[in-house]
Amino acid sequence: MNLISDTVTKPTPAMLQAMMSAEVGDDVFGQDPTINALEAKLAKMFGKEAAVFCPSGTMTNQIAIKVHTQPLDEVLCEESSHIYQYEVGGYAYNSGIGINLIQGEYGKMTADQVEAAIKPVHDWLPLSKLVVLENTCNKGGGSYYSCEEVKPIRDLCIRQGMKLHLDGARIFNALTETKESTLQVGELFDSISVCLSKGLGAPVGSVLIGDEDFVRQARRVRKVMGGGMRQAGYLAAACIYALDNHVERLAEDHERAKKIGELLESMPYVKAVKPVHTNIVIFDLEGDLTAAKFLDVISAKGISAAPFGPQTVRFVTHLDYTEAMLEKTLEILSELKF
Ligand SMILES: *Cc1c(COP(=O)(O)O)cnc(C)c1O
Repeated sequence: MNLISDTVTKPTPAMLQAMMSAEVGDDVFGQDPTINALEAKLAKMFGKEAAVFCPSGTMTNQIAIKVHTQPLDEVLCEESSHIYQYEVGGYAYNSGIGINLIQGEYGKMTADQVEAAIKPVHDWLPLSKLVVLENTCNKGGGSYYSCEEVKPIRDLCIRQGMKLHLDGARIFNALTETKESTLQVGELFDSISVCLSKGLGAPVGSVLIGDEDFVRQARRVRKVMGGGMRQAGYLAAACIYALDNHVERLAEDHERAKKIGELLESMPYVKAVKPVHTNIVIFDLEGDLTAAKFLDVISAKGISAAPFGPQTVRFVTHLDYTEAMLEKTLEILSELKF
């Protein structure tokens, strides 16, 4: 049972069928009809003018930072955010900018916190130009923002002349819980990155969404980063299939994660479980039990998961994690002794 990430899913037979019958062309010339259809579909869903297909969510985030900033600017984000923790420091390398970290709660920031972190304009200070929110917050344990919570941050950005980017790698997981629409999300952000290769189950692909001018610049940055692909419509077909068929079922992943979280709460080897809101379960181990030891033990019993700190472990539920696997997992976890 692979609970390492929701990226471990493999295409379903129906998704493979959609991929095999995709019409393709050279996307660097804008001639791949399936990629064009995916980009148009996502732009429309979020109420934006355009979108650009990329190989990864790291690339869509890095492109957004590059287009929204100039060297010597800074980005404001929560300290556990993916752009800071897991993108190899690419903000500095690709964009020559600094980062201004805010300590939020479970990965989420408030408008007051963002406002307090904005630097005054002086010759000797970086310019605070961009705010990045993550929804859901991976390292925050899959916590999510509602549109109502984002609105004051949006208003602040408008007042301060700052841009607002959404790292929406798991935005559909957030919307499953808030019951809000993609159009409502689109109104709040200048740019949105969406991953199709996470809970939605496509093998590869992220899309960066924004207005016409932003996406035109984003295409240039994608090319210089080496992300201009050719007949990648085979991949885009999987993404379209995922959007049409795998969004509604995300609620099942959330149910399963909650059940794992509830069981872990009652286990003597667990010190604390972060509140489980979506498909991510992050927990700390008791006493001197290390994540490495715990992972070895569960691995011998057929469960793989990811270490998230010396004594912290993450489980992520997904499309390929069935009800039968959940039952087996609960049985194994309830019988563990350390
Ligand atoms: C997975 C993820 C990304 C993008 O990751 P890639 O592996 O580069 O596609 C971005 N942000 C968050 C929050 C993620 O979980």
